[in-house]
Amino acid sequence: MKTIIEPFRIKSVEPIRMTTREERADLLKAAKYNLFKLHSDDVIIDLLTDSGTSAMSAAQWGAVMTGDESYAGAPSFYRFEAAVRNLMDFKHIIPTHQGRAAEHLLFNLIAKPGHIIPSNTHFDTTRGNIEAAGAEAVDLPIAEGKIPSLDHPFKGNMDLEALEALLREKRDSIPAVMMTITNNAGGGQPASLENIRAAAQIAQHYRKPFFIDGCRFAENAWFIKLREPGQQDRSIKAIIHDIFEVADGMTMSAKKDAFANIGGWLALRDDALAERARTLLIQTEGFPTYGGLAGRDLDAIAQGLSEIIDEDYLRYRVRTNAYIAERLDAMGVPVVKPAGGHAVFVDARAFLSHIPPLEYPGQALACALYEMGGIRGCEIGTVMFGRKPDGSEEPARMDLVRLAMPRRVYTQSHADYIVEVFEDLAASKDQLSGLKIVKEPPMMRHFTSEFAPL
Ligand SMILES: *Cc1c(COP(=O)(O)O)cnc(C)c1O
Repeated sequence: MKTIIEPFRIKSVEPIRMTTREERADLLKAAKYNLFKLHSDDVIIDLLTDSGTSAMSAAQWGAVMTGDESYAGAPSFYRFEAAVRNLMDFKHIIPTHQGRAAEHLLFNLIAKPGHIIPSNTHFDTTRGNIEAAGAEAVDLPIAEGKIPSLDHPFKGNMDLEALEALLREKRDSIPAVMMTITNNAGGGQPASLENIRAAAQIAQHYRKPFFIDGCRFAENAWFIKLREPGQQDRSIKAIIHDIFEVADGMTMSAKKDAFANIGGWLALRDDALAERARTLLIQTEGFPTYGGLAGRDLDAIAQGLSEIIDEDYLRYRVRTNAYIAERLDAMGVPVVKPAGGHAVFVDARAFLSHIPPLEYPGQALACALYEMGGIRGCEIGTVMFGRKPDGSEEPARMDLVRLAMPRRVYTQSHADYIVEVFEDLAASKDQLSGLKIVKEPPMMRHFTSEFAPL
């Protein structure tokens, strides 16, 4: 069969409240043109994030009921730990309430003012935690990863020469090397197994620990299976094993590739570092067998990890985004190519070329998508990354709008509706104007800034 169908049936539904364009224009104004400020029941299709928005399976909801809420030593923790270790064989697995809490623990312990932490591309919370520790977060993506329209199988790869050069020059200032899979900020693009191994080898050569931000490890493994020579006949589990074998630790958001609504973990090999992390965990998150989560959450994660590696699921997952991206591309809407694993990224800077980067074309496009179709996407561009630590501003490398697909939530007709909204938008895009920021916090401004149309 040529149609890749949703490999699940729907047992429980949530109604969508329909709104009119006039209503949405008012709601947008009241939200100060920041889509994070909208009430989600005023959104028709919510593509703000794929984080924590997954539809849990019947088996996960069943596992929720078996959750044990004992403060210490609950069986839920041991099921969680075994499920993680089944995929990533780390000695220490430390639960946290979400991914950024794992990042906070890690960078609190290893990063100091003056330090530099290189990555293929840091995600915004990772960057925020590194900068909060006084260190500098440096992105070293391959050149191909910076060109949205360029097709390349592994645009999430690290620039290995740049990594080597940075380590050679600034060796003493670099406490660790990080790698994000898939590369969320860079378009949901995967890194190849070869590139991950090579980056780990360079880190090892300079005796630096190598950490993986593994939020979308299963999607990355699926792309490796699809696209990397020699990987086609291997199981997803074997590929995942190979990815993490070369790492000294990982940070993880279970809100992504674990199908959970909340949760995360920090995994480590080093005993001393793990002990310090657990001490800090007790201060900030909770006892090491629950780490800020309920026992039921740990069970939902454990079950989710057994479902995320299903190849029928991964095939459908990646195909949904490719389908939308192909149709947008065919109508001349510039998209990041190839489609990312968890999202379609529209190149707003190219699509709205009459809006200069410092007037936030990504934000303008995200607002227009909401007003026209009730679709909520997310700006990943100058609003998110344009503000420097000293308060100055410069255009981000790209101005993208991310349409992130919640896992197992929307169907093909939702995808067709998204494409139709773009058809309408493409016809009237020249009338869209940019925005200015009228109020902003000192960091991670995209969450709370207020805007006014120009
Ligand atoms: C979501 C995400 C994080 C942070 O995880 P939270 O659970 O949202 O705190 C870190 N890195 C990447 C790549 C992510 O996508």
